[in-house]
Formats: sequence, C-alpha cells, structure tokens
Amino acid sequence: MQNPPDPDDPHAVERARMVLEQIERRGVVDPRVLRAMESVPRHLFVPESFQTSAYEDAPLPIGEGQTISQPYIVAFMSEAIRPQSTDRVLEIGTGSGYQTAVLSCLVRHVFTIEMRPQLVEPARARLRQIGCANVTVRLGDGHDGWPEEAPFDAILVTAAPRETPQALLDQLAVGGRLVIPLGTLEQELVRLTRREEGLDRETLLPVRFVPLTRDRRPRD
Ligand code: SAH
Repeated sequence: MQNPPDPDDPHAVERARMVLEQIERRGVVDPRVLRAMESVPRHLFVPESFQTSAYEDAPLPIGEGQTISQPYIVAFMSEAIRPQSTDRVLEIGTGSGYQTAVLSCLVRHVFTIEMRPQLVEPARARLRQIGCANVTVRLGDGHDGWPEEAPFDAILVTAAPRETPQALLDQLAVGGRLVIPLGTLEQELVRLTRREEGLDRETLLPVRFVPLTRDRRPRD
C-alpha cells in the first residue's frame, strides 16, 4: 500500500497484511482510512492476553462484557462517516479507544462518550500514550449526546440501540452524517445524512454490536 512497513515496528508487517487482506480486499478504498488503519497500534488496545491476536480478522473481548470491533468494521465505519480533516466528530461507546484513535487520524477533533467508568480511564491513558491530542473522552450516557459541543459534522455509534436516539439527530449539523447499528439480534448499520429538508437514510451492512444500554446509576 502507501508506505513500506516500518522495520523497527514488529507489528507493522502484521498491520500492513491486515489492511490488505481484511480491509482493502473487502472494498474499503479511502486512502486516509487505510493509512490510519496501518498506523494505529491495535495491539495496545486489547488485553495483554489477546495481544498476539490483535491483528486477526475478529472482534476481541476488552473486559466488562464489551468488545473491540473487528478491524474491517472499524475501517468500514470510519469510511462511512465520510471524514473530512476539518470535521468535529462525536463517537458513542469509547470502549478500548481504538476506533477513537483511528478517527483522530482523520478529523480535527473527536469527542467520545463511554458509559462504563472502568473503561474510561484506560482508554484515556492509551490515547495519551500513543499521542492522540485531538480527543476528549467523557464518562456519560451516549443517548444524550454532547449538547455543549454540538453540532457535529459526523456521529459514529459503536453500540446498538433499537432506534436512533433523538438527541443524536438533534446534534447533527446540516450535511452531517450519523452512522449507527440499529436492532437487537438482527442489526443493520445505517447512515443518516442531515439535509436542509430532512434526513436521507441508507442501509449499509448487516452487523453485530453490543447493545447501547441505558445508564441507570443514580445521578449526583
Ligand atoms: N468503539 C469501541 C467498541 C466498544 S463496544 C472500540 O473500538 O473498542 C461498545 C461500547 O459502548 C462499550 O464500551 C460500552 O460500554 C459502550 N456503551 C454501551 N452503552 C452506552 C451508552 N449508553 N453510552 C455510552 N457508551 C455506551
């Protein structure tokens, strides 16, 4: 692809192969997305016991019953939001922070919300460690979006609700793209694009994500 793998990075060869065999071959073409997938060290976003599987064609557990998505799905969703380098993007479901790191290579700023407190600090620490400076991580319920920072040029949701939360639709700029898995057992990845006169809806792919759950902890 673009650059020869860095000989000093023992994982660079695995990543180059991942991009070619799992991602380009399945039809992802955006060169910026391919480059981001080649550069983000996925092995740092999985538990140590899974590091040798980090570049395989599969989702992996990250604790708390949650998963880091399959590399192809991360690449597909990153392309599907049609990222522009000037965009401010909202991500719901930080999880490991891997999708956040990929997005941070593609856009101006990523705002990301995670509901499980045990996942927030490790994700923040990893993103800091690999030098992602254009990311803000917040503990919260993604159903509410991030009204103080709205509107967003794109919103990417990495856990599945039955229906698109209204707050996310309200926080999408005109021309903005919202990519979201919808459904329970049977899910489909949907892209909604806000137009002056309403929303365009496209069904992109059958998928399987963990559910977008409600934060039921009492508020202070
Ligand atoms: N993008 C992640 C995938 C994480 S899996 C990655 O690359 O690793 C989905 C994540 O959504 C989980 O971490 C889960 O805790 C989180 N989640 C579920 N419901 C949520 C909600 N209502 N608000 C915010 N995060 C939520």
